[in-house]
Parts: sequence; C-alpha cells; structure tokens
Amino acid sequence: MASGFEHPRVLLVEDDDTVREGVAAALTANGYDVVALSDGTRVVEAMRLRPADVAVLDVGLPVGPDGFAIAARLRSGRGTPVIFLTAADAEEDRLRGFDLGADDYVVKPFSVRELMARLQVVLRRAGIAAGSSLRVRDLVIDLVDREVRRNGALVPLTPLEFDILAALASTPGRPWSKRDLLAHVWGLERYAPHLVEVHVSSLRRKIEQNGNRLLSTARGIGYVVSP
Ligand code: CA
Repeated sequence: MASGFEHPRVLLVEDDDTVREGVAAALTANGYDVVALSDGTRVVEAMRLRPADVAVLDVGLPVGPDGFAIAARLRSGRGTPVIFLTAADAEEDRLRGFDLGADDYVVKPFSVRELMARLQVVLRRAGIAAGSSLRVRDLVIDLVDREVRRNGALVPLTPLEFDILAALASTPGRPWSKRDLLAHVWGLERYAPHLVEVHVSSLRRKIEQNGNRLLSTARGIGYVVSP
C-alpha cells in the first residue's frame, strides 16, 4: 500500500446520536480507529479483542454505567487514558472526573477541533500516537502535531487545509464528495460546494509541485487521493 497508516483506537461512549455520529465521523476522518457505543453495557466485550488507546466518555448516560463507572473499569484494566464529555453547568462532574484520574474533559457543546486537540495531547502524553502519520507519495502528514512535511521541510497549511488533506489521505482511492468533506471537516450540514472548492484549490497550490497531481477530481463525486 502506498499510504503508511497507524490508527490509534478510540472508545467513544455517548448516548446522543447526533454527537456520537458526528464525533465518530470526524475521528475516522482524522485517522482514528473508532469504537462508538451508545451506552457502557458492552464496553468490556468491545475492548476484549483490541483495547482502546484512549476513551472519550459522556458522563451522563441513561442506560447502564455512567461515564465515571466506565472510566473506573477501564482504569482498573490497562489504565486507558480518559477524556470526559461533561455538561456546561456540571462543575462538580469535572472535579469528580479529575478525582477519578481523568486526563482531560471537554465541555458541551464543543467543536470537533477542540476535542481533536485534547485527544492529541492526551495520546502524546501517553506516548501512543507518536508514530501516527499518513503518507501521500512524498508528503508525510503528522496527525498528532498536525504538520505536513516534504523531505523534512514543513509545508505550511491552514487548519482547514490540513483537515481536508488528512481526510482525503485517510482513504486512498476512495473519493470524498464535497458534501461529506463539508460535514467532516467543517461540521456543516448546509451544502456549500464553493467553500470546499476554494480550500481544495488553495491546498493544491501548496502541496502539488511541477504539475504533479496528488489530489484528483473524481468527476461528479468530489476529490480523491490516488492509492
Ligand atoms: Ca448524555
């Protein structure tokens, strides 16, 4: 395979379908292997085959153990780092979370980018994602430091351009529609193809040299990184 790839595994437990699906899609687009559950009743069996490198746990879960109980279970095992998702008014939850050894917390409503930044910090602290990178020909995309390098030299990208490239590079050979890119990278439901086109063409100018195409236009679909 032309693309080097290591996927840190994230356990996500969140009962809110919209939040869970949005976060899971964004994590996948950023090169994580995601196990998304709507409650904690099957956490132990879900982790048996391949344990998570980090857990993102909603505190308030109506069914089964709450986020704190799941964290306690994970910590008594292999000491999986935990990030809690807490409600804005629940300061007590945050304090209790830290008492229980939470590595971080994110207050709802949060942006995907904020959660991604916290995850990277927690994983780096745990020494887990250090080698987490994608490769597109001579470009190395460091998903932890969010940097792109060519022959060791930094290719300066905006955060949006980085997110687009990371998403496309995570699925070599599989095209992304503009609509999917908008949903994954911007978190937008509203269809605004022009927004994608502007950023993709700016990204191309920065990463493509001597007319050497890295991102192809999949006609009628969107964009694709060749495998
Ligand atoms: Ca909840």
